[in-house]
Amino acid sequence: MRLQATTDCERVEGKAPRYAQKAMDYTWPSELDELAAEASDWVTDATSDLFNTDDGWLVGYSDEFTLRLADKGWIGMTWPIEKGGDGRPEVERFVVTEQLLLGRAPMAGSFFPDRQIGPVLLSYGSEEQQERFLPEMRQGRSKWCIGMSEPDAGSDVAAISTKAIKDGDQWVVNGQKIWTSGARTADWCYLICRTDLDAAPHKGMSEFVVDMRSPGIEIKPIKDASGDAHFNEVFFNDVMVPEQNLVGELNNSFGQTMRQLEHERGGIDRLASNQRLYLDMKEKADTADPIIRQQMARIETGYQIGRDMVLRNVLRQTPFPQYSAVTKTFCTEFEQEVANFIGLAVGAETMLVNRVSRNVVYAPAYTIMGGTTQILRNIIGERILGLPREPRPKS
Ligand SMILES: Cc1cc2nc3c(=O)[nH]c(=O)nc-3n(C[C@H](O)[C@H](O)[C@H](O)COP(=O)(O)OP(=O)(O)OC[C@H]3O[C@@H](n4cnc5c(N)ncnc54)[C@H](O)[C@@H]3O)c2cc1C
Repeated sequence: MRLQATTDCERVEGKAPRYAQKAMDYTWPSELDELAAEASDWVTDATSDLFNTDDGWLVGYSDEFTLRLADKGWIGMTWPIEKGGDGRPEVERFVVTEQLLLGRAPMAGSFFPDRQIGPVLLSYGSEEQQERFLPEMRQGRSKWCIGMSEPDAGSDVAAISTKAIKDGDQWVVNGQKIWTSGARTADWCYLICRTDLDAAPHKGMSEFVVDMRSPGIEIKPIKDASGDAHFNEVFFNDVMVPEQNLVGELNNSFGQTMRQLEHERGGIDRLASNQRLYLDMKEKADTADPIIRQQMARIETGYQIGRDMVLRNVLRQTPFPQYSAVTKTFCTEFEQEVANFIGLAVGAETMLVNRVSRNVVYAPAYTIMGGTTQILRNIIGERILGLPREPRPKS
């Protein structure tokens, strides 16, 4: 990669600092352009007989597509070679994923394993767990859901009450999760539970891999405003989980969960969910209208700014550790702007049930899932800018 800032600074006592005159090199290696072109052609071909959708990374389920993507080697492509991955650079995953999103690929079947569960198992899972789960993820043979949010614990993950109690060599899980995307099709749930009932809220939590076919699991779909029901309530009634399915540290998983959220927040999926819709619909816009023209200028620049922010995460050139909060805030508000623009540009047609109306009613979700914009702004204010902490309610 040639994307390197040159910030060498010469400091001489009593004189203004002098910065190196070398310019930042923004040249994009031709190999990445070639990879983007390959991915764009491939996704057109690989989805020609399938149902494509905007927001395909979250709502587009196609087993056929998952297998095609696995066959292409584009699930877990960055994972280390010794762990069964291809060891490709993160920036290549970025290039491929952007094209899959622009191609509206129905990739929800593999996106959670690829984006966060695989990486989390690589960081915290045992050798045995890595050998057990990573190959089937790579081959597109296992689907996963994330059991984090509960009816009384969304933004405040530490408030979860689903509990796992040890009984011999098993854990017994009881409780309820909500908004669990893909739970009905999932083979496995990456579940966050309370394992020490007496510990302080941020302590006493642990993470487990739970077989979604275990007795005692009940799943109820929740319909969203667009009529789709990709997310669910999931009830756990005396669900037995083998002790070897505990991931990482017992009673100390809060840091692991926060790391998982970093994977969730900083990627191109937070920017490009409805970008193809914009590209397809902008032809319909009345470009003589000054408001439309202003909004188009904002969207065209917004995409470039958001893309550069995502790239900083991908290239690990972020100025501070919580940068993904900044990226997600900017990028998901951008996606909402896109939805608003499309509604305006397309006009009365938005009243019909179609791709545009679906996105307009779905768009509020962008700034809620994966951590709300208000919470992320708290993180930016308190942890990045060092502003005084908001008063916490006394419990
Ligand atoms: C499309 C979609 C898919 C999802 N998929 C999953 C999934 O697969 N797995 C999963 O576990 N969860 C999932 N979620 C849940 C999501 O993570 C939560 O909705 C989110 O974390 C917010 O939690 P909540 O809904 O309980 O809202 P609450 O936490 O109750 O918040 C309600 C409102 O109060 C605000 N608020 C709360 N606390 C503060 C504060 N301290 N300061 C300022 N404002 C505050 C929030 O910003 C929000 O506006 C999904 C959500 C959506 C929309």
